[in-house]
Amino acid sequence: MVIWKSGVVIITGASRGIGAACARLAARENWSVCVNYTSNADAAQAVVEDVEAAGAKAIAVQADVSKEDDVLRLFKVTADALGPVTALVNNAGILENQMKLEAMSAERFARVFSVNAIGALLCAREAVRVMGKSHGGQGGVIVNVSSAASRLGSPNEYIDYAASKGAVDTLTIGLAKEVGGDGIRVNAVRPGLILTDIHASSGEPGRAERLAPQVPAGRPGTAEEVAETIVWLMSEKASYVNGALLDVSGGR
Ligand code: NAP
Repeated sequence: MVIWKSGVVIITGASRGIGAACARLAARENWSVCVNYTSNADAAQAVVEDVEAAGAKAIAVQADVSKEDDVLRLFKVTADALGPVTALVNNAGILENQMKLEAMSAERFARVFSVNAIGALLCAREAVRVMGKSHGGQGGVIVNVSSAASRLGSPNEYIDYAASKGAVDTLTIGLAKEVGGDGIRVNAVRPGLILTDIHASSGEPGRAERLAPQVPAGRPGTAEEVAETIVWLMSEKASYVNGALLDVSGGR
């Protein structure tokens, strides 16, 4: 039997939604948790308090994942406070108002890709630098939060967002092969319609409910259902899962 000691996880975008659910669940599995956020300090602090109430250690760290200096600080502050980082959940993500591609601005493309794609690349790079055995680390796990949008394409809504998640899928496939021999597993989850605040950013807070009839499961999913899959991928129970793109979408 493999005995797995949970370590230190950085969860980007953990003040709300899927990231917050991951933080709460990881705490129950004895992970020490860095709750990253960009602007909502009160929400991040509430997640920290939930993690501590579960008996685990937690800190909240403000950092914009699209900024390299912020990402470097995020990893350093976490290691100083909680110990060597052994897992990253690359979860922070944004989308903007629903529209056709023909109406989107170049500035919007840059905003969406800088958080969803470049942010994921920067955080993954730092995780490899601290966790890789060839760098003196103890190995670890990266879970990228992609989206079913990467295979559905999100026509008439946000093709830019879908394309940025395609980049996350490709990052997952390549990095899993690149660092598998360095003691790091890299996988992605692709959530479908999940009940979080993100749909309000699209201009349609009730989007998940509207599209629920398209889901074979007949309903939107919850952040907790996605978190269960992410925390499982973080664990030694998923020791032979590497390079997988795992749909958590109720069959949609
Ligand atoms: P959410 O409820 O809107 O929460 C977004 C989180 O990301 C917040 O904690 C926010 O921090 C943080 N964040 C935003 N920009 C950031 C930045 N530049 N740097 C650091 N943190 C940042 O989103 P969610 O629905 O939980 O989505 C989480 C992930 O799942 C995203 O990658 C999203 O694309 C993906 N996903 C979601 C769904 C869905 O239906 N909900 C489906 C597929 C994929 P603040 O609180 O400080 O603003």
